[in-house]
Amino acid sequence: MKHRLSASGIARARKCQFWVRGDAVWPEREPSREAAFGTAIHEAIAKTIESGERVEPDADAVDDLDADRLQRTFDRWAEWWPTARGELRWQAEKPVAWNVRTGEARWLPKAEHRDYGTLDDYEIPGTIDALANDGERVYIIDWKSGRQSVEAPDTNPQLGHNGAAAAAALRLDEAEVAYIKIGEDAIYRPEPATVDAITSTLLRDELRSIIDRAPTSKPEPGPWCQFCPMRGACPATESHVAEVIDAAAIVRRHPVSLDIRNNDQAAFTLTAIDGVEAFLSELKKRVREYADKHGGILLADGTVWSKSEVRTERPDLSVDGALQALYALGLIEAIESKTTWAAIKRAGGKDGEKAAREKLKAIGAVKASTAPRYEAREVKTRKAG
Ligand code: SF4
Repeated sequence: MKHRLSASGIARARKCQFWVRGDAVWPEREPSREAAFGTAIHEAIAKTIESGERVEPDADAVDDLDADRLQRTFDRWAEWWPTARGELRWQAEKPVAWNVRTGEARWLPKAEHRDYGTLDDYEIPGTIDALANDGERVYIIDWKSGRQSVEAPDTNPQLGHNGAAAAAALRLDEAEVAYIKIGEDAIYRPEPATVDAITSTLLRDELRSIIDRAPTSKPEPGPWCQFCPMRGACPATESHVAEVIDAAAIVRRHPVSLDIRNNDQAAFTLTAIDGVEAFLSELKKRVREYADKHGGILLADGTVWSKSEVRTERPDLSVDGALQALYALGLIEAIESKTTWAAIKRAGGKDGEKAAREKLKAIGAVKASTAPRYEAREVKTRKAG
Protein backbone atom coordinates (compact mmCIF):
# COMPACT_ATOMS: atom_id res chain seq x y z
CA MET A 1 0.00 0.00 0.00
CA LYS A 2 1.46 3.32 -1.10
CA HIS A 3 -0.40 5.48 1.43
CA ARG A 4 -2.81 5.50 4.42
CA LEU A 5 -4.81 8.56 3.51
CA SER A 6 -8.60 8.66 3.80
CA ALA A 7 -11.03 11.52 3.19
CA SER A 8 -11.23 12.61 6.83
CA GLY A 9 -7.45 13.16 6.98
CA ILE A 10 -6.99 15.28 3.85
CA ALA A 11 -6.91 18.62 5.71
CA ARG A 12 -4.07 17.31 7.93
CA ALA A 13 -2.27 15.72 4.98
CA ARG A 14 -2.07 19.16 3.37
CA LYS A 15 0.13 20.22 6.30
CA CYS A 16 2.08 17.02 6.96
CA GLN A 17 2.34 13.86 4.86
CA PHE A 18 4.53 11.85 7.20
CA TRP A 19 1.62 9.97 8.84
CA VAL A 20 0.19 9.12 5.40
CA ARG A 21 3.11 6.96 4.25
CA GLY A 22 2.25 3.35 3.50
CA ASP A 23 4.75 2.16 6.13
CA ALA A 24 3.61 4.61 8.84
CA VAL A 25 2.89 2.89 12.18
CA TRP A 26 -0.22 4.18 13.92
CA PRO A 27 -0.18 3.12 17.56
CA GLU A 28 -3.31 1.48 18.93
CA ARG A 29 -5.24 3.73 21.22
CA GLU A 30 -8.52 3.83 23.05
CA PRO A 31 -11.14 5.97 21.30
CA SER A 32 -11.43 9.33 23.01
CA ARG A 33 -14.62 10.32 24.81
CA GLU A 34 -15.51 12.66 21.95
CA ALA A 35 -14.86 9.93 19.35
CA ALA A 36 -17.11 7.47 21.23
CA PHE A 37 -19.80 10.15 21.31
CA GLY A 38 -19.44 10.79 17.57
CA THR A 39 -19.65 7.08 16.75
CA ALA A 40 -22.77 6.61 18.91
CA ILE A 41 -24.64 9.53 17.33
CA HIS A 42 -23.59 8.52 13.79
CA GLU A 43 -24.77 4.94 14.39
CA ALA A 44 -28.19 6.02 15.66
CA ILE A 45 -28.66 8.42 12.74
CA ALA A 46 -27.56 5.81 10.18
CA LYS A 47 -29.91 3.17 11.61
CA THR A 48 -32.79 5.66 11.65
CA ILE A 49 -32.21 6.68 8.02
CA GLU A 50 -31.81 3.10 6.83
CA SER A 51 -34.82 1.70 8.69
CA GLY A 52 -37.10 4.71 8.24
CA GLU A 53 -37.95 4.42 11.94
CA ARG A 54 -36.45 6.18 14.90
CA VAL A 55 -33.64 4.08 16.43
CA GLU A 56 -32.45 5.44 19.79
CA PRO A 57 -28.72 5.96 20.41
CA ASP A 58 -26.88 3.44 22.57
CA ALA A 59 -26.21 5.28 25.85
CA ASP A 60 -23.94 2.43 27.01
CA ALA A 61 -21.49 3.30 24.24
CA VAL A 62 -20.56 6.61 25.89
CA ASP A 63 -19.27 7.89 29.17
CA ASP A 64 -22.03 8.36 31.80
CA LEU A 65 -21.44 12.09 31.63
CA ASP A 66 -22.23 12.10 27.91
CA ALA A 67 -25.36 9.92 27.99
CA ASP A 68 -27.75 12.87 28.41
CA ARG A 69 -25.92 14.95 25.82
CA LEU A 70 -26.15 12.01 23.40
CA GLN A 71 -29.91 11.70 23.84
CA ARG A 72 -30.52 15.44 23.60
CA THR A 73 -28.35 15.72 20.49
CA PHE A 74 -30.14 12.80 18.84
CA ASP A 75 -33.57 14.24 19.78
CA ARG A 76 -32.61 17.52 18.13
CA TRP A 77 -31.58 15.70 14.94
CA ALA A 78 -34.66 13.44 14.96
CA GLU A 79 -36.98 16.48 15.20
CA TRP A 80 -35.19 18.24 12.36
CA TRP A 81 -34.58 15.40 9.87
CA PRO A 82 -38.22 14.85 8.73
CA THR A 83 -38.40 18.57 7.87
CA ALA A 84 -35.15 18.45 5.88
CA ARG A 85 -34.95 15.14 4.04
CA GLY A 86 -37.48 16.08 1.31
CA GLU A 87 -38.69 13.50 -1.18
CA LEU A 88 -35.27 11.98 -1.85
CA ARG A 89 -34.39 8.42 -0.89
CA TRP A 90 -31.45 8.69 1.49
CA GLN A 91 -28.81 6.07 2.22
CA ALA A 92 -26.48 6.13 5.21
CA GLU A 93 -22.82 5.30 5.86
CA LYS A 94 -21.73 4.57 2.29
CA PRO A 95 -18.00 3.79 1.98
CA VAL A 96 -16.49 4.82 -1.35
CA ALA A 97 -12.99 4.81 -2.86
CA TRP A 98 -11.91 7.50 -5.32
CA ASN A 99 -8.99 6.71 -7.57
CA VAL A 100 -7.17 10.03 -7.89
CA ARG A 101 -5.06 8.77 -10.81
CA THR A 102 -7.92 7.61 -13.06
CA GLY A 103 -10.81 9.66 -11.63
CA GLU A 104 -12.92 6.49 -11.29
CA ALA A 105 -14.72 5.63 -8.05
CA ARG A 106 -16.30 2.50 -6.61
CA TRP A 107 -18.54 1.70 -3.67
CA LEU A 108 -16.89 -0.39 -0.97
CA PRO A 109 -18.58 -2.96 1.24
CA LYS A 110 -19.66 -1.67 4.65
CA ALA A 111 -17.24 -2.79 7.32
CA GLU A 112 -16.74 -2.40 11.05
CA HIS A 113 -14.52 0.46 12.26
CA ARG A 114 -14.22 1.96 8.80
CA ASP A 115 -11.86 -0.80 7.69
CA TYR A 116 -11.71 -0.19 3.94
CA GLY A 117 -9.95 -3.44 2.98
CA THR A 118 -7.54 -3.66 0.05
CA LEU A 119 -7.24 -0.55 -2.08
CA ASP A 120 -5.35 0.44 -5.20
CA ASP A 121 -2.25 2.64 -4.64
CA TYR A 122 -4.11 5.78 -5.72
CA GLU A 123 -7.51 5.02 -4.22
CA ILE A 124 -8.53 7.25 -1.31
CA PRO A 125 -11.44 5.90 0.72
CA GLY A 126 -14.06 7.85 2.63
CA THR A 127 -17.42 7.19 4.26
CA ILE A 128 -20.39 9.29 3.25
CA ASP A 129 -22.72 9.83 6.20
CA ALA A 130 -25.85 10.42 4.11
CA LEU A 131 -26.35 10.33 0.36
CA ALA A 132 -29.21 10.71 -2.13
CA ASN A 133 -29.52 11.57 -5.81
CA ASP A 134 -32.18 12.89 -8.13
CA GLY A 135 -30.67 11.55 -11.36
CA GLU A 136 -28.86 14.81 -12.08
CA ARG A 137 -26.78 15.49 -9.00
CA VAL A 138 -25.84 13.62 -5.89
CA TYR A 139 -26.45 15.12 -2.44
CA ILE A 140 -23.94 14.47 0.32
CA ILE A 141 -24.31 15.24 4.02
CA ASP A 142 -21.67 14.90 6.70
CA TRP A 143 -22.89 14.96 10.32
CA LYS A 144 -20.74 16.89 12.79
CA SER A 145 -21.44 16.50 16.47
CA GLY A 146 -18.06 17.47 17.94
CA ARG A 147 -17.13 20.79 19.44
CA GLN A 148 -14.29 21.68 17.12
CA SER A 149 -14.73 24.12 14.23
CA VAL A 150 -15.37 22.73 10.75
CA GLU A 151 -14.08 24.10 7.45
CA ALA A 152 -16.84 25.59 5.24
CA PRO A 153 -18.33 23.25 2.58
CA ASP A 154 -16.86 25.14 -0.38
CA THR A 155 -13.27 24.57 0.82
CA ASN A 156 -13.75 21.45 2.96
CA PRO A 157 -11.57 18.73 1.35
CA GLN A 158 -13.38 15.81 3.00
CA LEU A 159 -16.67 16.97 1.50
CA GLY A 160 -14.89 17.68 -1.79
CA HIS A 161 -13.55 14.12 -1.87
CA ASN A 162 -16.86 12.53 -0.93
CA GLY A 163 -18.80 14.63 -3.43
CA ALA A 164 -16.38 13.97 -6.30
CA ALA A 165 -16.20 10.24 -5.47
CA ALA A 166 -19.98 9.81 -5.25
CA ALA A 167 -20.55 11.74 -8.48
CA ALA A 168 -17.92 9.57 -10.24
CA ALA A 169 -19.38 6.33 -8.84
CA LEU A 170 -22.89 7.32 -9.98
CA ARG A 171 -21.64 8.81 -13.28
CA LEU A 172 -23.23 12.19 -12.48
CA ASP A 173 -21.74 15.58 -13.32
CA GLU A 174 -21.85 17.20 -9.93
CA ALA A 175 -22.51 16.88 -6.22
CA GLU A 176 -24.05 19.17 -3.65
CA VAL A 177 -22.12 18.80 -0.42
CA ALA A 178 -23.05 19.99 3.05
CA TYR A 179 -22.26 19.39 6.65
CA ILE A 180 -24.80 19.62 9.42
CA LYS A 181 -23.63 20.51 12.88
CA ILE A 182 -25.89 18.84 15.40
CA GLY A 183 -25.88 20.44 18.82
CA GLU A 184 -27.91 19.73 21.93
CA ASP A 185 -29.95 22.86 21.39
CA ALA A 186 -29.83 23.59 17.68
CA ILE A 187 -29.00 22.37 14.22
CA TYR A 188 -26.56 24.48 12.22
CA ARG A 189 -26.58 24.08 8.45
CA PRO A 190 -24.15 26.28 6.52
CA GLU A 191 -24.69 26.98 2.84
CA PRO A 192 -23.98 23.79 0.81
CA ALA A 193 -21.36 23.86 -1.96
CA THR A 194 -21.21 22.37 -5.44
CA VAL A 195 -18.46 20.00 -6.51
CA ASP A 196 -18.28 20.11 -10.31
CA ALA A 197 -15.79 18.82 -12.87
CA ILE A 198 -13.34 21.70 -12.31
CA THR A 199 -13.22 21.51 -8.48
CA SER A 200 -13.01 17.75 -8.67
CA THR A 201 -10.05 17.82 -11.09
CA LEU A 202 -8.15 20.35 -8.97
CA LEU A 203 -8.66 18.27 -5.84
CA ARG A 204 -7.70 15.06 -7.65
CA ASP A 205 -4.37 16.60 -8.81
CA GLU A 206 -3.62 17.81 -5.30
CA LEU A 207 -4.38 14.42 -3.72
CA ARG A 208 -2.26 12.57 -6.24
CA SER A 209 0.63 14.88 -5.42
CA ILE A 210 0.15 14.28 -1.66
CA ILE A 211 0.33 10.51 -2.21
CA ASP A 212 3.45 10.87 -4.36
CA ARG A 213 5.21 13.08 -1.79
CA ALA A 214 4.31 10.95 1.25
CA PRO A 215 7.07 8.29 1.00
CA THR A 216 9.88 10.88 1.25
CA SER A 217 8.15 13.32 3.57
CA LYS A 218 9.41 14.46 6.99
CA PRO A 219 7.28 15.19 10.05
CA GLU A 220 5.87 18.74 10.00
CA PRO A 221 4.57 19.30 13.52
CA GLY A 222 1.91 21.89 14.21
CA PRO A 223 -1.56 22.29 15.69
CA TRP A 224 -2.78 19.59 13.23
CA CYS A 225 -0.85 16.96 15.25
CA GLN A 226 -3.62 17.07 17.89
CA PHE A 227 -5.78 14.49 16.09
CA CYS A 228 -3.06 12.70 14.08
CA PRO A 229 -3.35 8.89 14.31
CA MET A 230 0.44 8.67 14.42
CA ARG A 231 1.05 11.18 17.17
CA GLY A 232 1.97 8.56 19.76
CA ALA A 233 4.77 7.20 17.56
CA CYS A 234 5.84 10.18 15.48
CA PRO A 235 9.49 11.27 15.96
CA ALA A 236 8.33 14.89 16.25
CA THR A 237 5.87 14.27 19.09
CA GLU A 238 8.24 11.78 20.70
CA SER A 239 10.81 14.55 21.00
CA HIS A 240 8.13 16.76 22.60
CA VAL A 241 7.48 14.03 25.16
CA ALA A 242 11.21 13.81 25.82
CA GLU A 243 11.23 17.56 26.46
CA VAL A 244 8.40 17.16 28.94
CA ILE A 245 10.30 14.39 30.63
CA ASP A 246 13.37 16.63 30.83
CA ALA A 247 11.20 19.31 32.33
CA ALA A 248 10.14 16.85 34.99
CA ALA A 249 13.80 16.61 35.96
CA ILE A 250 13.77 12.85 35.64
CA VAL A 251 17.34 11.63 35.71
CA ARG A 252 17.91 9.59 32.59
CA ARG A 253 20.41 6.81 32.35
CA HIS A 254 18.89 5.46 29.15
CA PRO A 255 17.54 7.36 26.18
CA VAL A 256 13.76 7.73 26.37
CA SER A 257 12.60 6.14 23.17
CA LEU A 258 9.73 4.09 21.81
CA ASP A 259 12.36 1.70 20.52
CA ILE A 260 12.91 -0.57 23.56
CA ARG A 261 15.98 -2.71 22.85
CA ASN A 262 16.99 -4.52 26.02
CA ASN A 263 15.90 -5.54 29.51
CA ASP A 264 17.79 -2.69 31.26
CA GLN A 265 16.16 -0.08 29.12
CA ALA A 266 12.72 -1.73 29.51
CA ALA A 267 13.11 -1.91 33.31
CA PHE A 268 14.25 1.71 33.50
CA THR A 269 11.37 2.83 31.28
CA LEU A 270 8.87 1.04 33.51
CA THR A 271 10.17 2.95 36.54
CA ALA A 272 10.31 6.23 34.67
CA ILE A 273 6.69 5.83 33.52
CA ASP A 274 5.47 6.30 37.11
CA GLY A 275 7.38 9.54 37.35
CA VAL A 276 6.19 10.72 33.97
CA GLU A 277 2.56 9.89 34.79
CA ALA A 278 2.81 11.77 38.08
CA PHE A 279 4.36 14.71 36.27
CA LEU A 280 1.71 14.69 33.55
CA SER A 281 -1.04 14.49 36.10
CA GLU A 282 0.40 17.57 37.84
CA LEU A 283 0.79 19.25 34.45
CA LYS A 284 -2.87 18.59 33.59
CA LYS A 285 -3.92 20.01 36.95
CA ARG A 286 -1.91 23.18 36.34
CA VAL A 287 -3.23 23.60 32.78
CA ARG A 288 -6.78 23.34 34.16
CA GLU A 289 -5.95 25.89 36.85
CA TYR A 290 -4.51 28.20 34.19
CA ALA A 291 -7.68 27.78 32.05
CA ASP A 292 -9.92 28.50 35.06
CA LYS A 293 -7.94 31.60 35.97
CA HIS A 294 -7.77 33.02 32.42
CA GLY A 295 -11.26 32.16 31.15
CA GLY A 296 -10.01 29.30 28.97
CA ILE A 297 -7.16 28.54 26.56
CA LEU A 298 -7.42 29.74 22.97
CA LEU A 299 -6.42 26.93 20.57
CA ALA A 300 -5.03 27.25 17.06
CA ASP A 301 -8.33 26.30 15.40
CA GLY A 302 -10.16 29.18 17.13
CA THR A 303 -11.89 27.05 19.80
CA VAL A 304 -11.47 27.72 23.51
CA TRP A 305 -10.56 24.90 25.91
CA SER A 306 -12.33 25.62 29.16
CA LYS A 307 -14.31 24.09 31.99
CA SER A 308 -18.05 23.63 31.81
CA GLU A 309 -20.33 22.13 34.43
CA VAL A 310 -22.01 18.95 33.27
CA ARG A 311 -25.10 17.99 35.25
CA THR A 312 -26.34 14.44 34.92
CA GLU A 313 -29.50 12.91 36.25
CA ARG A 314 -30.00 9.19 36.70
CA PRO A 315 -33.02 7.26 37.88
CA ASP A 316 -32.64 6.32 41.57
CA LEU A 317 -34.39 3.00 42.06
CA SER A 318 -33.56 2.87 45.77
CA VAL A 319 -36.32 5.42 46.40
CA ASP A 320 -39.62 3.87 47.52
CA GLY A 321 -42.11 3.79 44.69
CA ALA A 322 -39.53 4.26 41.88
CA LEU A 323 -39.71 0.65 40.68
CA GLN A 324 -43.49 0.65 40.90
CA ALA A 325 -43.64 3.88 38.90
CA LEU A 326 -41.66 2.34 36.04
CA TYR A 327 -43.71 -0.82 36.27
CA ALA A 328 -46.96 1.16 36.04
CA LEU A 329 -45.61 2.93 32.95
CA GLY A 330 -44.89 -0.42 31.28
CA LEU A 331 -41.15 0.26 31.37
CA ILE A 332 -40.02 -2.63 33.52
CA GLU A 333 -37.86 -3.96 30.66
CA ALA A 334 -35.64 -0.89 31.00
CA ILE A 335 -34.40 -2.11 34.38
CA GLU A 336 -31.14 -3.97 34.31
CA SER A 337 -30.03 -5.90 37.34
CA LYS A 338 -26.32 -6.16 38.06
CA THR A 339 -24.25 -6.97 41.09
CA THR A 340 -20.65 -7.57 42.14
CA TRP A 341 -18.95 -9.83 44.71
CA ALA A 342 -18.12 -6.69 46.69
CA ALA A 343 -21.78 -5.65 46.84
CA ILE A 344 -22.80 -9.17 47.90
CA LYS A 345 -20.13 -9.12 50.62
CA ARG A 346 -21.35 -5.74 51.87
CA ALA A 347 -24.87 -7.13 52.12
CA GLY A 348 -24.13 -10.54 53.59
CA GLY A 349 -20.61 -10.40 55.01
CA LYS A 350 -17.89 -12.95 54.28
CA ASP A 351 -20.16 -15.93 54.92
CA GLY A 352 -22.87 -14.51 52.70
CA GLU A 353 -20.38 -13.99 49.90
CA LYS A 354 -19.05 -17.54 50.27
CA ALA A 355 -22.55 -18.98 50.19
CA ALA A 356 -23.47 -16.85 47.17
CA ARG A 357 -20.35 -17.94 45.27
CA GLU A 358 -21.08 -21.62 45.92
CA LYS A 359 -24.76 -21.34 45.06
CA LEU A 360 -24.28 -19.27 41.89
CA LYS A 361 -21.45 -21.52 40.68
CA ALA A 362 -23.58 -24.59 41.26
CA ILE A 363 -26.37 -23.24 39.03
CA GLY A 364 -23.93 -21.96 36.36
CA ALA A 365 -24.63 -18.30 37.17
CA VAL A 366 -20.98 -17.17 37.26
CA LYS A 367 -19.45 -15.64 34.14
CA ALA A 368 -15.67 -15.91 33.75
CA SER A 369 -13.49 -13.84 31.46
CA THR A 370 -9.75 -13.50 30.99
CA ALA A 371 -7.83 -10.28 30.40
CA PRO A 372 -4.08 -9.72 30.17
CA ARG A 373 -2.41 -8.11 33.19
CA TYR A 374 1.18 -7.02 33.63
CA GLU A 375 2.61 -6.93 37.14
CA ALA A 376 5.83 -7.72 39.02
CA ARG A 377 5.96 -11.20 40.57
CA GLU A 378 8.67 -13.03 42.40
CA VAL A 379 10.70 -15.39 40.29
CA LYS A 380 9.89 -18.99 41.20
CA THR A 381 13.07 -20.96 41.89
CA ARG A 382 13.13 -24.74 41.89
CA LYS A 383 14.12 -26.35 45.14
CA ALA A 384 17.15 -28.56 44.77
CA GLY A 385 15.84 -32.10 45.00
S1 SF4 B 1 2.15 13.89 14.76
FE1 SF4 B 1 2.26 15.80 13.55
S2 SF4 B 1 4.30 15.80 12.69
FE2 SF4 B 1 3.90 13.74 13.33
S3 SF4 B 1 3.07 12.70 11.55
FE3 SF4 B 1 1.32 13.46 12.71
S4 SF4 B 1 0.86 15.46 11.83
FE4 SF4 B 1 2.95 14.92 11.15
